[in-house]
Amino acid sequence: MEKTFVMLKSDGLKRGLLGEVISRIEKKGYKVLGLKIQRLTKEQLDKHYYEHLERPYFPSLVEYVTSGPVVHMVIGGDNVISGIRKLNGATDPEKAEMGSIRGDLAINMTKNLIHASDSLENAEREIALYFSPDEIVE
Ligand code: ADP
Ligand code: MG
Repeated sequence: MEKTFVMLKSDGLKRGLLGEVISRIEKKGYKVLGLKIQRLTKEQLDKHYYEHLERPYFPSLVEYVTSGPVVHMVIGGDNVISGIRKLNGATDPEKAEMGSIRGDLAINMTKNLIHASDSLENAEREIALYFSPDEIVE
């Protein structure tokens, strides 16, 4: 089964949206294969978002994601990598379609509520950053 990595960013738990987000993922037919709550450090985000280190928004992204605990998920299903990106909607919640998680629930470009891997390579890399193999069910 294809797997992807999903992170409910810090405002998700604060706003009580964990159930809503997991419900949308499960209703689409995807399976939750791994789940944990964690506070992230800047060092972890430097690795996770290494492609964005030099971007002007990187400091505010780190401030936001480290402002409270996040929820990590490994999600499985057919074509789940592109499927979850579609469920999430565009990066900018103002441009994300209504009906998508960001379109319906997210606040702005920084506080956009949810992350999902964008390729098979990044899915494998990101899952390995946060989960050991024995923490994922098949
Ligand atoms: P996505 O999360 O949709 O894959 P990117 O990989 O392009 O988006 O960016 C990673 C994260 O960095 C985004 O989810 C968002 O939180 C933040 N970000 C990206 N671009 C901007 C921007 N122009 N202004 C503020 N934050 C941004
Ligand atoms: Mg991305």
